[in-house]
Amino acid sequence: MTLFRARVMDTPDDPFADGALRSDEDAGLLVVDGVITERAHYATVRADHPDEDVVDLRGGVLLPGLVDTHVHFPQVRVIGALGMPLLEWLERCALPEECHLEDPAYARDVAAEFVFGLASAGTTTALVFGSHFASAVDLLFAESARVGLRVTSGLVVSDRGLPDPLLTTPERAYDEAIALAERWHDVGRSRYAVTPRFSFSAGEDLLDACAAVAKDVPDAWFTSHVNENPAEVAEVARLFAEAEHYVDTYARHGLLDERSVLAHNVHATDAELAVLAGHGASVSHCPTSNAALGSGLFPLRRHLDHGVRVALGSDVGAGTGFSLLKEGLQAYFMQSLLGDAGLPLTSTHLLHLATRAGALALGLGETVGDLGVGKEFDAVWVRPLDDDPLDVGLRHAKSPEDALAKVFALGGDSDVAGVWVAGDRIKG
Ligand SMILES: [Zn+2]
Repeated sequence: MTLFRARVMDTPDDPFADGALRSDEDAGLLVVDGVITERAHYATVRADHPDEDVVDLRGGVLLPGLVDTHVHFPQVRVIGALGMPLLEWLERCALPEECHLEDPAYARDVAAEFVFGLASAGTTTALVFGSHFASAVDLLFAESARVGLRVTSGLVVSDRGLPDPLLTTPERAYDEAIALAERWHDVGRSRYAVTPRFSFSAGEDLLDACAAVAKDVPDAWFTSHVNENPAEVAEVARLFAEAEHYVDTYARHGLLDERSVLAHNVHATDAELAVLAGHGASVSHCPTSNAALGSGLFPLRRHLDHGVRVALGSDVGAGTGFSLLKEGLQAYFMQSLLGDAGLPLTSTHLLHLATRAGALALGLGETVGDLGVGKEFDAVWVRPLDDDPLDVGLRHAKSPEDALAKVFALGGDSDVAGVWVAGDRIKG
């Protein structure tokens, strides 16, 4: 049993439905076997538990562990390649690097770098786009389990339009996915996600094989890409003449339900948003990636108006880093740039998108996403160096919302002074 003392902020109530930021300037969180069992003013909890060890996290802010709903394991080494739109970036940058993961020694190193990148940024839960190579996905699961992160991931499959080493067949895709799921699905904090790369590179038979995996692995997750870039959208329309639209290329194979998360959806039609909402699927908004690749400005307001659930993704390595704080800030920027079509975001919205919205999208809303009683203690301590501009900002903030805005505006990986998953400290 451990008593944590901190300035705590979280968003148990949806700010898109008028929920307010929950902020406690001097909170005591009692954690027993990884679960928060009491939360109140520190002095109150301390009086009831005078002999417990105290972890003093005053200075800075304690937030729920961050949730990244779209991030690519094999791309950690290609972050920061600027100046290309999606299809050119894939061909020149991402796909050549992904071919290297066929080598288990290479994949093992990348898995360590990737998991370290997540933890260092304060990300405790992630839906991870795996590798096209089953051996590499196995190494990713092993490393994330060793460190303790909550990772949902799977074998990425394609059977056309990519370099030969990345292609598979429907039969092999099914067999390798089932083998991986048997090893890792619902084992510890790991879960399996059926993962066709995108319809652009997955034919009908391969999507049928994906549907078979989803059926044969109970409660498997599903993730892919959709509507990221106009050239990609046009090519998918040409390849799937019988589909009503891009979203339908997945829906018609029975791949969409409440355990589905599609990344991007920048160029969504109203008909597609209605289908996503009808299936209870979620969309992962990846704002730095959308900006870096020039993909476009995400129609957040239209998603929410249709009832489509939205969370944040870093989309490393098209995204410019692992920080969900940076993604939150970029989401704010992009809604501002949309003018009247945009949705003005407060710091409370940004925290919700980076924590509880992600937990809900991943079906973990009862487990993590806020720091209330009954939740597991997944937390990130943002503690800048003394007199760092963020430290100055926090000391002079006019309100909790103002302080939180400074965390998003000024906070980065180097300000993440401690990270916990289920009460175990994994950084700091
Ligand atoms: Zn992606």
